[in-house]
Amino acid sequence: MRRYLVAGNWKMNTTRESGTQLAQALVAEVPAENPGVEVLVCPPFPYLTSIGDVVNGSGVGFGAQNCYHEAPGAFTGETATEMLTDIGCRSVILGHSERRHILKETDADINLKVKKALASGLQVILCVGELQSEREADQTEAVLDTQMTGGLDGVDASAFDQIVIAYEPVWAIGTGLTATPDQAEAAHQYLRNWLKDKYSAEISDATRILYGGSVKPDNAQELLSQENVDGALVGGASLKPELFIPIIQAAS
Ligand code: 13P
Repeated sequence: MRRYLVAGNWKMNTTRESGTQLAQALVAEVPAENPGVEVLVCPPFPYLTSIGDVVNGSGVGFGAQNCYHEAPGAFTGETATEMLTDIGCRSVILGHSERRHILKETDADINLKVKKALASGLQVILCVGELQSEREADQTEAVLDTQMTGGLDGVDASAFDQIVIAYEPVWAIGTGLTATPDQAEAAHQYLRNWLKDKYSAEISDATRILYGGSVKPDNAQELLSQENVDGALVGGASLKPELFIPIIQAAS
């Protein structure tokens, strides 16, 4: 049985105060022991430590939205995985579509980060997903294959207990357009088969595949009930406890 994971990607949002209040609201609602669902928030870097203090000892974990692949040193503006583990951060989102398309990260860049984060013991949430134009050109599976192959190049089967895949169709991110449950399930099934072909049936069965893209309380239940959807990576709705908590409950 795969344990659901519901993760909030706060992106470049919140203030220290609003983020703290948001985290406090979640801690108050999420049981400390929640065997059915793992809950995670990913605040912006400047607030990681203070949010980490708020969620410490609760049923809510905290993760980063990015990292750099080098050890600490002369890399102005970057964040080392050693710094993340130093503050008790246990997860990192990598390959998010905004980093791919706005910050121009390539699969090779993402792969270096994936390997470094894994070596540091972090849980990696590797995001993949196609553009609208790619879907229309019937290239969804080819794009997912390229991103999985590139992002996981050289990653050993033994690391998979630290890896989560997030399918985020770019056309559904922040647009209010959601993949239908059937569209999501088809992509998730493709990704699960990919893991089986490239790694093993065991890894394919055990690896969680999250859906992301305009997840809201009113569509969460149906998306999460798909056989191969093991949780959600939530953007906008993760900024409001009254929206994020029902999404967590839909997975519980
Ligand atoms: P929205 O939920 O705002 O569409 O964002 C999804 C996302 O990008 C999560 O990483």
